[in-house]
Amino acid sequence: GLTARLQNVFGKLRGRGKLTEEDVNEAMREVRLALLEADVNFKVVKDFIAKVKEKAVGQEVLKSFTPGMVVVDIVNKELTELMGGTQAKLAQAGKPPTVVLMAGLQGAGKTTLTGKLANLLQKQNHKPLLVAGDIYRPAAIKQLQVLGEQIGTPVFTLGNQVSPVEIAKQGVQHAKDNGNDYVLIDTAGRLQIDEALMEEIQNIHAAVKPDEVLLVVDAMTGQEAVNVAQSFHEKLALTGVVLTKLDGDTRGGAALSVKAVTGCPIKFASTGEKIDQLEPFHPDRMASRILGMGDMLSLIEKAQANIDADKAAEMERKMRTADFTLEDFLEQMEQVRKMGPLDQLLDMMPGMGKIKNMPNFKVDEKQIARTEAIVKSMTRNEKLKPDIINFSRRKRIAAGSGTTVADVNRLLRQFEDMKKMMKQFSSMMGPGGKGPKGG
Ligand code: GDP
Ligand code: MG
Repeated sequence: GLTARLQNVFGKLRGRGKLTEEDVNEAMREVRLALLEADVNFKVVKDFIAKVKEKAVGQEVLKSFTPGMVVVDIVNKELTELMGGTQAKLAQAGKPPTVVLMAGLQGAGKTTLTGKLANLLQKQNHKPLLVAGDIYRPAAIKQLQVLGEQIGTPVFTLGNQVSPVEIAKQGVQHAKDNGNDYVLIDTAGRLQIDEALMEEIQNIHAAVKPDEVLLVVDAMTGQEAVNVAQSFHEKLALTGVVLTKLDGDTRGGAALSVKAVTGCPIKFASTGEKIDQLEPFHPDRMASRILGMGDMLSLIEKAQANIDADKAAEMERKMRTADFTLEDFLEQMEQVRKMGPLDQLLDMMPGMGKIKNMPNFKVDEKQIARTEAIVKSMTRNEKLKPDIINFSRRKRIAAGSGTTVADVNRLLRQFEDMKKMMKQFSSMMGPGGKGPKGG
C-alpha cells in the first residue's frame, strides 16, 4: 500500500524549510505507483501527480511537521478534491416526483441499489415508488418485488410484455397519482456496452426526463469501470455515480477515475448485499482509503490543531541538548495525549520517532496517566533535579499520586534512559543536526 511506500520515502525526507523538487519527485514516484496499484487510470494518475507536484514544491515545512506529513496532507487534499470535494446529495425535483433512472452493466448492482435507495429515502420520510424496467432478465421483476416487500415499498410493474419506455412513463404517472415523491426506475443490465440496450435507456430518458441519472459501477472492475463510465457518459447525461461492492478488498481506485472521466459526483457507496448497506459517498474518506492511511490523516489534522510549532521546536532542541527535565517530559506526554493513538503520532513528531523505539519506553494511555500523576506529585525542585529524589521522597510521591514506589522507580529510570539516549543521539547527530543516515 501507499503507507509503506511513503514511509520509505519519508525516512529520506529529513530537511526542514521548504520541500525541494527532489523531495517531491521522490515522494511522487511512490504515490504514482501506489495509485496505479489501486487501479486508478494512468491518465488520471498523470494529471494528479502533476497537480500535486505543483502544489508541493516550495511548500513550507512547519517546524512541528515532518516533510512526510506535509506531502501526505497535500496528496490527501488533492485526492479528496479530485473525487468531488464534498459529499454530493441526491437530486430533488422542485416539483415532485423526483425521477431517478438507474444505468449500468448487468450485475453492477442496479436492482439492489434501487431497493437500498428506497430504504434510505423512506428513513428520511419520503414515499418512493420502485419501477420494474428490466423486462429481459427472467427474475428481475421478482427480485425488485422481493426487495419492495422487504422494506414495504410499492413496486410498479406491467410484466415483461410491455416496453420499458412505456413502463417508465406509466410508472411516473402512477407516482403522481399516488403521491409518491420519488420514482426509482430499475433498468435492464448490459453485459457490455450494447447498442440496442443503450438506445432503449436513451429512449426511457427522453420519455421521463429524469432529475437524476445514476451510473451504477462495480468498484471491483477496476480499469474497466473507466471505459464503462466513458461510454455511458457519451450516451446519457449522467448526473451521478454510485459505487457498489466497496466491501470487497478493492482500494477504490475506480472511484477516482470514474469521477475524473465523467465529471459526475459519486453520490453513494454500496458496501454489501444487505438492504441497509448503502452510504452517502464521502470523498475525504475514500481518499484515506486509497491512501491506506486513514489514521495518519486524522492525526495530521489533530496535530495541526494541537501542536504549537514553536514549542515543538524548543522541545526538540532540549531533547537534543539533553537539557530536558521531568517537566518537559510531562508536557510532551500531555501534548501527545491530546491527540490519540500514540505510535503513529510519535513517528510524525519531530524528534519523537526515536523515543518510540527505545527499549524502556513503551507508551500506552494508562502509563501516560500514571506518569502524569507521578510528575504532578513532585516538587518543582524534584522535577528539575531528579537526582535528589531519595527513597523517602519516592514513598511520598507514590502516595501522593496513588501509585507505588515501583512505578516511581520505573518512571525515573525511563526518564534517565531517555536522557542518556538523547545525549548519545545528539553526539551522533553532531552540531549540524544531521543524523547518521542523513544526507
Ligand atoms: P444488476 O444486474 O445491476 O441489477 O445487479 P444486482 O442488483 O442484481 O446485483 C448483482 C449481484 O451483486 C447480487 O448478487 C447482489 O446481491 C450483489 N451486490 C450488489 N451490491 C453489492 C454490494 O455493494 N456488495 C456486495 N458484496 N454485493 C453486492
Ligand atoms: Mg437488475
